[in-house]
Amino acid sequence: MAESITNRNEKWREELRQLHSTKQRTSLPRVKMPEVDPGYRVTCVDEVNQGLSVEQAVLESRRCLDCPDPGCVKGCPVANNIPGFIKNIERRNFSEALKVINETSVLPAVCGRVCPQEKQCEASCIYNKMKKQPVAIGHLERFVADFIRESERQQQNDDKTVRDDAASQSALPLSIKIAVIGSGPSGLAFAGDMAKRGYKVTVFEALHTFGGVLKYGIPEFCLPNEIVDYEIERLKKLGIEFVKDSFVGKTISYQELQALGFKGIYIATGAGKPRFMCVPGENLPGVMTANEYLIRLNLLDSQAYGKNSTSLAGKRVAVIGGGNTAIDAVRFALRMGAEKAMIVYRRSEAEMPARSEEIRHAREEGVEFMTLSNPVEYISDDSGFLKAMRLQKMELGEPDASGRRSPVAIPGAVEEIPVDLVVVSVGSLPNPPTSLPDLEMTRQGEIVVDNSSMKSSSPAIYAGGDIVRGPATVILAMGDGRRAANAMAEAFERRLQSLEL
Ligand SMILES: Cc1cc2nc3c(=O)[nH]c(=O)nc-3n(C[C@H](O)[C@H](O)[C@H](O)COP(=O)(O)OP(=O)(O)OC[C@H]3O[C@@H](n4cnc5c(N)ncnc54)[C@H](O)[C@@H]3O)c2cc1C
Ligand code: SF4
Repeated sequence: MAESITNRNEKWREELRQLHSTKQRTSLPRVKMPEVDPGYRVTCVDEVNQGLSVEQAVLESRRCLDCPDPGCVKGCPVANNIPGFIKNIERRNFSEALKVINETSVLPAVCGRVCPQEKQCEASCIYNKMKKQPVAIGHLERFVADFIRESERQQQNDDKTVRDDAASQSALPLSIKIAVIGSGPSGLAFAGDMAKRGYKVTVFEALHTFGGVLKYGIPEFCLPNEIVDYEIERLKKLGIEFVKDSFVGKTISYQELQALGFKGIYIATGAGKPRFMCVPGENLPGVMTANEYLIRLNLLDSQAYGKNSTSLAGKRVAVIGGGNTAIDAVRFALRMGAEKAMIVYRRSEAEMPARSEEIRHAREEGVEFMTLSNPVEYISDDSGFLKAMRLQKMELGEPDASGRRSPVAIPGAVEEIPVDLVVVSVGSLPNPPTSLPDLEMTRQGEIVVDNSSMKSSSPAIYAGGDIVRGPATVILAMGDGRRAANAMAEAFERRLQSLEL
């Protein structure tokens, strides 16, 4: 673990460890996250998880044993100093806890909500070996970020706090202009780190709103927009310029960016290109991709019931897939009034890649899970609109390259199910901007980079997030942005020292 502002040998931590015995700590049950009742939550887009109170967070933090060789840190893709921030919660020093998290993570309110902790840090917590529920690391991370945000709001001193942050972290302003293409978590993390180093950063975003998938993909009932907007406001106060409706490769070219004096470019355009299954009938009205569907719901004020064209009142909706996107889509369908909302997934629930909490929430809300089923045809009515889907029943065979048991069709086992809307959510592909110099790409369209610096095959162009990895996670996208910022800044510093610039 890198040197942190708090380490295990500090006196306060030693004293804190001695306050309660291991037996006392491990006998505490995991604090349950308060949730909105399923019957009510399907009628609105209120956030489902309500957050821990101060007392609940402190109680949960007490469960953490401050392990000498913490497995949780090894399980975190960006090696957050997890016991370091949790022990600060236990001693009620929440601002210090946030500082510890911010050493490695720039969007804790987001990551605390959407990271798959059960497969990462929490999966490696020592409690699992004791056959007990792991420390609720994600809920504690979210608590810290939310607590500080709300305190700042209450004191009405946001401006001061951000100026203080900027003043304490920014280097002397430099005249070097850097362009970031895409305002998702990767672009935001990169932009923040470069601005703190004094670079003049401009973020170009194709859409009319900033945040990437955090805004147009993940619904408000999982991640409220105000959380993302708050983080973007903080970045603006660091001097970063945000330009919306600016599609690099269409409304502005690479050559124009160069002419405007941008000396470095970070590409973070994500993986928003939909993937199709090539099933007969997939082009019928009534079949759409998850991207199109979620953009309509998230960005077109669809939460205003009755005022829009996205109401699904009385409709039967099937979402094809088992990832986070599919579960978000199907839960959204219920909130838009769907009479029946189904997940159609070709393997069993155990193989679903979605976060387990999301699957549980979906089930509580009344989503029907049609597992071991795969669509083989969509059927239209006399007017050419979707009316049914034909599903091939599957069974599990040998494990495939992903280690999951592969689905095998059961001969002759096909059933027809009536449906009004099908949302295809079987993954997506990278969408690299056009008009850039010839970059080395994979066959799938991912930009090839050096893994440690995130530098592409073209000088001064770096890339990270889903455009490099294919569809992945928020924390990995952010980690790439931070690594790229480090490497690009070092490269500029070397050039400045040799007076090349
Ligand atoms: C519905 C959904 C739910 C998800 N749920 C989770 C979850 O619970 N947990 C988790 O960890 N991950 C989740 N993910 C994955 C996660 O959101 C992504 O891995 C992450 O957002 C990738 O970040 P990024 O910055 O690389 O790209 P993105 O977030 O995709 O942002 C890319 C941005 O670039 C813009 N852009 C594209 N081309 C151009 C261009 N030419 N010019 C200008 N701008 C451009 C796009 O409009 C977009 O705003 C989910 C994804 C989806 C779709
Ligand atoms: S492994 Fe679990 S108990 Fe140990 S430091 Fe990490 S969170 Fe705390």
